[in-house]
Amino acid sequence: MLESVDVGAQRLESYRASSGDAALDGLRALAAPLRGARVLHVNATPYGGGVAELLRSEVPLLNDLGLVADWKLIADHQTFFATTKAIHNGLQGSEKGLTEAQWTEYLQTVEETAHALKDDYDLVVIHDPQPLALPSLHGRGGARWVWRCHIDTSQPNPDVWARLRPFLEAYDAAVFTLGGFVPPAFPVRQVEIIPPAIDPESPKNIDLGSHLAERVLRWIGIDLDRPLVCQVSRFDPWKDPLGVIAAYRLLKAEVPDLQLALVGSMALDDPEGWDVYHRIQDAARSDPEIHVFTNVTGVGNIEVNAFQRLADVIIQKSIREGFGLVVSESLWKGTPVVAGRAGGIPLQLSDGAGGFLVDSVEECAARALELLRNPDEAELLGRRGRSAVRDRFLLPRLLADELRLYTLMLERPAADVIHSAAAGLGGEERDPVCGLLVDPSKALGATVGGQTFAFCSSTCRDVFLADPDRYLRASSAPRVG
Ligand code: UDP
Repeated sequence: MLESVDVGAQRLESYRASSGDAALDGLRALAAPLRGARVLHVNATPYGGGVAELLRSEVPLLNDLGLVADWKLIADHQTFFATTKAIHNGLQGSEKGLTEAQWTEYLQTVEETAHALKDDYDLVVIHDPQPLALPSLHGRGGARWVWRCHIDTSQPNPDVWARLRPFLEAYDAAVFTLGGFVPPAFPVRQVEIIPPAIDPESPKNIDLGSHLAERVLRWIGIDLDRPLVCQVSRFDPWKDPLGVIAAYRLLKAEVPDLQLALVGSMALDDPEGWDVYHRIQDAARSDPEIHVFTNVTGVGNIEVNAFQRLADVIIQKSIREGFGLVVSESLWKGTPVVAGRAGGIPLQLSDGAGGFLVDSVEECAARALELLRNPDEAELLGRRGRSAVRDRFLLPRLLADELRLYTLMLERPAADVIHSAAAGLGGEERDPVCGLLVDPSKALGATVGGQTFAFCSSTCRDVFLADPDRYLRASSAPRVG
């Protein structure tokens, strides 16, 4: 109960080459007033999935920046995780609610965790719904509490939402990945929009070199003389792995020597993973060119890196998505992506960079075929995708946004904040859809209800104009003019 995760040490200095001087200097300036601040992050799993990925990178860097950051895990038993996956699905809009027994068990486990939380912190960041009730059941103490929601909660299941909503009243602030994810009648006043980012220095994202990457994939049975499409995802129905197999079958009729790799991790807090894995195996049994890999058989960061680098096309056929880190991970390696129009994916493929958004199996197959047949187009899209990730979705930008929030929460105003386009800093104009800092010289504007809003891209502006009210639920939505 409440296990600590030891992430070792990391140095911000290692990010200078990938992220640039301005971003690092901006981070140091932001962190200076926070020196010594005790910050705890709580989530449900140390591996498998985007949240673990982010914390694994962020926590050691916060320590290097002079904060005192810890990472702890709530509970570790499968009945609790079956309940919290039902809560996760409910928050993402699944029709299935919770039973009374599930709810009672949820509260009991969080209460036990609350008793086990003895250390004092200045700030506690609770990730996703699993530990959400912690501040109410523990008591707020002297800490400020932030709920960091990584999933799409824009249209939650009413039963699940009615149970969780009162527990949110104990929070000082909430952070969402996209402006459009804030649920209706959200009870937390301070709402920030902060999209995640990838770690360019992690083994998953470093430059492997093609020779090493090829050796890694050959060793697990991939024929690199033949075309390869791949999806890297938790085995989760929202990621639509069976839709990927259906698209592959359509593609295979046109490209007979095509191979498909489905690479999936089993997260501690996702008991649905094995069911989905078995469904995939059933669907794939008749075709030896469909390869199914998991972290359980040792397909880890280096293999994921090699797949994202060497696949001709990466597919991410999500139906519902939080951010979808795998999209930026693939683009960072210059590989084009064909992906479902869900959650944070359009943001990563905005303005035509990086690949194509699709809404069906047929469209997915058609777009992947287009890229397989036009390697020059694929290469150009991949190159533009990498450049967009460099500008917007690398770890220092995320850290800057988070430090800015901590400063606000802990009322330790930054002395002289260095303005840097690469680091999100307090007071600047932000895009109400993606929360990113907007460069006033390049911003696109739109006026709604007499107020003018600034956007980083036409994708964000179009999304906003399709349903402005949804983006204005965040009370702190940035306005200009
Ligand atoms: N991942 C992995 N191995 C796998 C499948 C996924 O390491 O077999 C990682 C993937 O590289 C990414 C994270 O898990 O870093 C998934 O994050 P994402 O935001 O795409 O989705 P989530 O699982 O959080 O819904």
